[in-house]
Amino acid sequence: MGGRTTPKIKAGALVVGNEILLGLTRDTNTVFLAESLLKRGIKLSRWVIVQDDMAQIGRELKNYIQEGYDIVVVSGGMGPTHDDITVEAIAKALSVPMSFHEECYRRMLIKWKSWNPNKELPESGKKGLQNMAHVPQDFDLINNEQGMVEGLVGTARSGQTLIFILPGVPREYKGIVSTGKFQDYLPPGHDNDVFIREVKFRGKESQIALFLSEVQNSFQDIDIGSYPQGPMSVILRVTGSSDEVEKAVPMIAEEVKRLEIENQREG
Ligand code: ATP
Ligand code: MG
Repeated sequence: MGGRTTPKIKAGALVVGNEILLGLTRDTNTVFLAESLLKRGIKLSRWVIVQDDMAQIGRELKNYIQEGYDIVVVSGGMGPTHDDITVEAIAKALSVPMSFHEECYRRMLIKWKSWNPNKELPESGKKGLQNMAHVPQDFDLINNEQGMVEGLVGTARSGQTLIFILPGVPREYKGIVSTGKFQDYLPPGHDNDVFIREVKFRGKESQIALFLSEVQNSFQDIDIGSYPQGPMSVILRVTGSSDEVEKAVPMIAEEVKRLEIENQREG
């Protein structure tokens, strides 16, 4: 029952980190990202986690690009240690060279000096910063006030896929996602796409399953989620365009009421 004029924005997260796959670190960063995007009217539509591995990072980035994603947020593995290969993996996947970024180095030096007053940066430290100041061609910097590496942003598909590369440290990641610069890069979302309504059902999922699938099939722009909370308690959540959500919710609410009365009669 479409009628939509603008296609939905496709946003994906590409999280790099063995520790997340091992269950040792919770991916709180992407939860924060999903919430932030939602506030902008953009739904995160895929969330991929890979090992600290060049080939895996490259493959998943290329998948996103080939599938026409508008936004890909890559994170983790930006630091100076041996397992920090993300930036290089992205450059490789995009077939662009990396080069020394003067401004990036300058910003890091300023940060180092402000965090280490009255100290001289040793030669080894200088090398580390210089390494981290190598950036894929045509990528821009996003200020990271909480940590050394700068956030990066570039594009693929002639500018149609926006690619962010962010540090994994939660304080830094969240700081960057909250900056005006990150937010300004995002395409305008459609608040309409993320209209959310919930209906509580005191009953069993199986009772309402068929009805929900009928409602789902008769609308184009909504997703109906069913989330059991206990033996006789289900949250039904409808997200999507406001006009369709406003039509679907009363239908669901009516059926919920009917089933609840039926359940009461049967005791
Ligand atoms: P660093 O410069 O410290 O190496 P980085 O960009 O390389 O930063 P990682 O090394 O991947 O990031 O992770 C830094 C810290 O942040 C680690 O403690 C890691 O467990 C944590 N971290 C990484 N990714 C996430 C995430 N998605 N959610 C929460 N914590 C994360
Ligand atoms: Mg690291």
